[in-house]
Amino acid sequence: MKLTAQVKLRPTPEQKTALLNTLTCVNEACNYISEHAWETKTFRQYDLHKLVYYDIRERFSLPAQMTVRAIAKVADAYKIHKRCKRVFKPLGSIAFDVRNLSWRTRTEPPTISISTVEGRQRIPFSAGEQQRELLERRQGEADLLYKNGKFYLYQCCDVGEPDPFVPDGWLGIDMGIVNIAVTSDGQIFSGDRIEVKRCHYEHRRASLQSVGTKSAKRRLRQLSGRQHRFQTDTNHCISKAVVAAAKCTCRGIALEHLKGIRGRTKVRRGQRSRHSNWAFYQLRTFVQYKGLLAGVPIVLVDPRDTSKTCSRCGHCSKSNRSTRDEFRCSNCGHVAPADWNAAVNIAAKAAVNRPMVSTEVTRADIRVSNCPTA
Ligand SMILES: [Zn+2]
Repeated sequence: MKLTAQVKLRPTPEQKTALLNTLTCVNEACNYISEHAWETKTFRQYDLHKLVYYDIRERFSLPAQMTVRAIAKVADAYKIHKRCKRVFKPLGSIAFDVRNLSWRTRTEPPTISISTVEGRQRIPFSAGEQQRELLERRQGEADLLYKNGKFYLYQCCDVGEPDPFVPDGWLGIDMGIVNIAVTSDGQIFSGDRIEVKRCHYEHRRASLQSVGTKSAKRRLRQLSGRQHRFQTDTNHCISKAVVAAAKCTCRGIALEHLKGIRGRTKVRRGQRSRHSNWAFYQLRTFVQYKGLLAGVPIVLVDPRDTSKTCSRCGHCSKSNRSTRDEFRCSNCGHVAPADWNAAVNIAAKAAVNRPMVSTEVTRADIRVSNCPTA
């Protein structure tokens, strides 16, 4: 499975200038290449290389490998569409490979050696133990990004995954807004803490927006990043706990099929700002990729009627849900927290395991990336 390790660089002021100049220079070169590509309708990397390589090296004094990457960037952009001339932002991200970027992950502090327009630079970076371990398995390219005045490297890594074990039963998970996740074991991950934080940030945002000065805008950007990171961290913790609970009991994990989840959850006006779709999607992705890494099988089940069906007698009716929180079966009188009842139903659907009911998750279904810090 491919994972992305994200590290923050700690350049000196001179190194920062060198990196900024590199970004600007490469993107200028990209725009020049793009101009030529568009005029001559040459879009293949090989043909573009023949057309502009020496011209670019001379005109922008770019090192050889950086020129190659710039040509590749333009060719990749035209692969997506050729409807109009592609233009690149002055500080857009650029790719590095083993020829112009090397890593020292075990030194203190860890460093990279990176090629810039002002020569090779050795720059320290911050990374936790997990990121360092991940970086041991780096493979292919890394992207250099400039975001909110800071430099980041996103390095692609290839992590091997064990074959999934044969599950002895299923752990169902219901995801929602009030409770972020509830398992069929009855473990509840409440959204309260996130809600308190969200209210706090919303309040701060409102007062900063009314100020409207340059520094207020900078604060606003910082806030949005902080809220984003808090949510991501929460999702990491929940998914880790869920996967651990399944693994230590040798069970697989059953999730609802994503298709239609947004249309299905009706959101009241007051809850609209609570219902952030990316957070939902992120938690699911985290559970799926952590599951694959731990060898825990994962199935996606049809989400229809899981919240209206009685997990004891199977009676399905809208009247079973008198309130959002409580499930009360109108047939057998079974009373349970509504989300837990749904999670039990999801686990039961996975156990049925008919081809039309559940879908096995493979690595092709998952696109993993570290969430950018907005
Ligand atoms: Zn019932």
